[in-house]
Amino acid sequence: MAPQRPMPRLDAAKLRENALTSIRLGVEDFERCRHPGGDPARALSAIRNLFAGVLLLFKYKIATCVDDPADADALIFNPPEVLPHSDGDGGIEWVPVGKFKSTTIDVVTIQKRFEAFEIDVDWAVIEKLQACRNHLEHLHPAHTLGEVADFVAELFPVLRDFIQTELEESPAAILGDAWQLMLLHHNFFVDTTKRCEDAWSDACVPEGMEPWLEESKCPECGSTLLAPAQESLDAGDTVEHNDDRFKATCIACGYTALIAPLMVDALQQAHSYDPRDGDEPTLEDCNQCGRGAFLIHEQSCLWCSAELEYTECKICEESLGQDDQDNGGLCSYHAYSYEKFMRED
Ligand SMILES: [Zn+2]
Ligand SMILES: [Zn+2]
Ligand SMILES: [Zn+2]
Repeated sequence: MAPQRPMPRLDAAKLRENALTSIRLGVEDFERCRHPGGDPARALSAIRNLFAGVLLLFKYKIATCVDDPADADALIFNPPEVLPHSDGDGGIEWVPVGKFKSTTIDVVTIQKRFEAFEIDVDWAVIEKLQACRNHLEHLHPAHTLGEVADFVAELFPVLRDFIQTELEESPAAILGDAWQLMLLHHNFFVDTTKRCEDAWSDACVPEGMEPWLEESKCPECGSTLLAPAQESLDAGDTVEHNDDRFKATCIACGYTALIAPLMVDALQQAHSYDPRDGDEPTLEDCNQCGRGAFLIHEQSCLWCSAELEYTECKICEESLGQDDQDNGGLCSYHAYSYEKFMRED
């Protein structure tokens, strides 16, 4: 038998210290990249440090859930692989092979450990942070500065609740200045979001498109802090009827762009599909208003609220689409059969 390696050991106090250091560094990087004239290359470093710090803090929590340090190690390090072995009698046994690895658990496993110990975290935010880090690795950081700023703001309440509720500590006490900066940034973000929302209420955004306005991002920096352009409001334009000229201004970077394509983009991204996987489209251009906002399954347009006159085939009850409307309430198959029947008659 191979000599057994001792199980790697972790030091919970060290884990906590590293977590806090990483978060402080992340906030410092963020401060250096977000101001005009700042260094955009720091954006990636900010997200990397924040993400790493949050995961370390989570691992620290897991390590402190059990009394025995050996149990803590078993929870934090990746367990040995379990492989099938013949039991020599036509059956199999599943046996762990080797020892615990020297690598520690990833996000998915942390999530499982949290479930086991009933630790609550807003995983949607953590997964967004992870996705942001992954795609930042491939993009020019300047194009995602606004997106990074959004994430730092969104991370704030997650971190606050976790430190207060799960660690029973005070975030201000353990993170110092970094915490004050996050707090200021978070408050700025919340205030600005609210002010943007109020301003849009004068712009007559089609009701069905409102959620997609919230999802719209600045094409230049990725921020969601978009306000209606003052010139569009002053001209008395509405998004609903003047989408060919209604503009939005990014509060984070000052870039101005037409708002309608950004909203339709956000909608289309949520409905993206891959025909190679046999997926069917769920969104198409509306025959009434021409915008790419017609939901096929809902049989209605998010932009102009157009609905279908005939929603299902009178004979087979199959649901109908925009293209079937000329068939007088029949699906294409039954419309064809009916026509053929009439001709033969
Ligand atoms: Zn921007
Ligand atoms: Zn429409
Ligand atoms: Zn039919």
